[in-house]
Parts: sequence; C-alpha cells; structure tokens
Amino acid sequence: MTGATILTSQAGAAQDPPLAPPDKQPPHVRVPEPVAKTVGWAVVGLGQLALEEVLPAFAKCRLSKPVALVSGHPDKAKKVAAVYGIDPKNVYDYENYDTIAKNPQVDVIYVILPNSLHAEYTVRGLKAGKHVLCEKPMAATVAECERMIAAGKEAKRKLMIAYRLRHEPFNRTAIDLCRKGEVGKIKLITASNGQDTKAPNIRLSKALAGGPVEDVGVYCLNAARYLTGEEPTEVTAVAVRPKDDPRFREVAESVAFTLRFPSGTVAVCDCSFGVAGVRRYTVQGAAATLSMDGAFGYAGQELVLEKDKRKAKFDLSPVNHFAAEMDYFSTCVLKNENPLTPGEEGLADVRAIIAIAEATRTGRPVPIPR
Ligand code: NAD
Repeated sequence: MTGATILTSQAGAAQDPPLAPPDKQPPHVRVPEPVAKTVGWAVVGLGQLALEEVLPAFAKCRLSKPVALVSGHPDKAKKVAAVYGIDPKNVYDYENYDTIAKNPQVDVIYVILPNSLHAEYTVRGLKAGKHVLCEKPMAATVAECERMIAAGKEAKRKLMIAYRLRHEPFNRTAIDLCRKGEVGKIKLITASNGQDTKAPNIRLSKALAGGPVEDVGVYCLNAARYLTGEEPTEVTAVAVRPKDDPRFREVAESVAFTLRFPSGTVAVCDCSFGVAGVRRYTVQGAAATLSMDGAFGYAGQELVLEKDKRKAKFDLSPVNHFAAEMDYFSTCVLKNENPLTPGEEGLADVRAIIAIAEATRTGRPVPIPR
C-alpha cells in the first residue's frame, strides 16, 4: 500500500465530545416555550399596510394572533381570512362592526383606515369593550383626539397610537444616547421624510385627512419630540403646491417646518410627496453628532455617532417593527400596563400638525397650545 493514505475510523477517548447529536437532535436548536395566553387581534381596513406589512407580521409575533377582520369588501376579506386561518364567522363589515363587542376571541382592534376614519372606528372599538391600536396620525383634529382619549377612559380600555419606531432598536438606541448626554446639549435636529406618492392614494385627499405632514412629516415631528424628550412650543412652516401637478389639487406636495423647543433646540424638518425619497435625521449636539439614514423606513436603519472626529456605526439586530409593536401592546394588555405611546402622544403630534397648517397659511410663527 505504498503512497496511499489509509483512512481508518479511530475510537475517541472517553472525554471526547460525541460527533453525532447524542439523541438525534441538534444540540443548539431553541425549542420555543409555549405562552400562557395569547391576545386576539381584529384588523380594521384591509389596504396596503394591513395586507403587505401587518398581517404577515403576525407570523413573527409570540403573543398576538389575528382572529378577526373588518372590511367593506367581503370577497377580499374572506380570501384574506382563509390565508390567515381566521374563522369566516369573524369577518365583519363597517355596519356590523359594533357587534364585535360580543366576540370574546377579540381583545384588541387595530385601526388601519384613512386618517379621517381613525376617530370613529377607534371610539366604536373602545365602546365595544376592546383595546385599540390606532395608526398614525391619531386623527384629523384635536377634538377627535380628545374624544378618542375620553372613550378609552370611559370604557377602561387601552388606546395606543402606532408609532412603530419606538419598538425597534436603532431609534431606541438613538433616544438612549440623547438621554445619556452622549451628544451633549442638543442644538439642532434636521429631519427629512419624503416619497413619490402616485394618484390615486388616500394621502392625496383632503377629505380623508391626507397631506405630507400628516403622512410622512409626522415621523420627523415625532422624532424631534422623542429625541429631545421635550414638547415644541412654536412652529414656522412653508408649503409648496405646484399648479402644474394635478396630484396636489387638495394637499401640498412639500412642507418645510421648524419646531422650537423650550431648551433652545430647533428642529428643521421637511416632508414631501414628490421626491425620490429620503428618510433621515441628524442630531447636532455640542459634543457629538448623531445621524440615522433610513431612519423612518420599515428596515435599513443606519445609526452613526460622530465624536472627536471618530465615527462609530452601531451594529444592532433589526426586528420586524410591526411584530414588535403588536407584541408590545399585547404585553400591555396582558399585564395591564399603560402603553408608551397612548392617545396623549398622538394628540401632541396632532396639535403640532394643526399649528404647522396654520403657519403655512399665515406665513407667521404659530404657538402650539398645551
Ligand atoms: P390604503 O389606502 O392602502 O388602505 C386604506 C383601507 O381603508 C383600504 O382597505 C380601504 O378599502 C379602506 N377604507 C375604508 N373606508 C374608506 C374610505 N372612505 N376611503 C378610502 N379607503 C377606505 O392605505 P394604507 O397605506 O394602508 O394606510 C392606512 C393607514 O395606515 C393610514 O392612517 C396611514 O397613515 C397608516 N400607515 C402607517 C404606516 C406605518 O408605518 N405605521 C405605514 C403606512 C400607512
């Protein structure tokens, strides 16, 4: 056998680890623990966000299960129910929606309708005895927001506004860094959120409470509030509505606005429905600069802290924003805890949105009432 290598199986020493999994199971696989109780969710409105993001995200939830649907299109709703294993008896329309009160499988209602309908369907959901997660912006007017908050208190049910970025690690880390003083005193925040919105779209309709500030600018506004931890006292704003683009017959194409905060921080924000798309913010502090590209998207956040001419990029594990948000609200329901972004949080943004609209009309600074 000259020149050949003879391969023989050698018996291992007693202390050697076994080569094949000892009981035919990979040793590091994590077997999920059963949860004691899950929370049943009804999704109201089967549009783009519900169908493309929210319903698929339930597969990544531990505590939240889709158990009912509310839609004005019965054929679509039945089809969607079959895909998600939802009992066809639990498909409601907008007329019989209130009878959801009698369905013990439903704990939470998620309102994903045009902005002009948020108040009505949230109030009806709370009156039906269910907890409600309502999409941003909370509603079209301050009075509607106040009615929604009052309905939650009266029904003793929780109301949360769907600010998904509060449940994902990049924006949470940015908040922590600002609170811990890593950037020093915050002097300036710049924030941009834009996209190219094609007609027809609920966002282009005034009657449905659309508009760039309501839809995308609210992310800049909310970020300026959560990064500073302060409430803005005054706004200025300029709106652009190109006459040669019929998409903007009712709402502006772009709005630039500034927010003045009590500590002296100024936030300079812009939002648009007519741009290729930028979703970023920068926090300029006395000691460092924090910036996030892709800040407002469903994924793709890049967080960088620049201090003493050195840049540190944060390597965080992204999560599905909607799954994290829904399981968070389910936890609030199960543990009877108040959510991080209750109705009052949505109302604070709506107060600023109304002031921004007034500032675009008058061209003057507008105080934000508290
Ligand atoms: P969409 O137009 O795709 O869906 C709206 C749904 O409402 C449709 O199913 C439609 O049939 C239904 N509807 C009921 N009554 C209606 C009426 N009178 N006019 C028009 N539609 C009516 O919109 P979308 O993109 O799914 O947005 C829905 C809500 O979700 C909005 O409030 C929006 O701001 C919010 N949203 C939030 C995020 C986020 O990241 N949190 C992302 C997208 C949208």
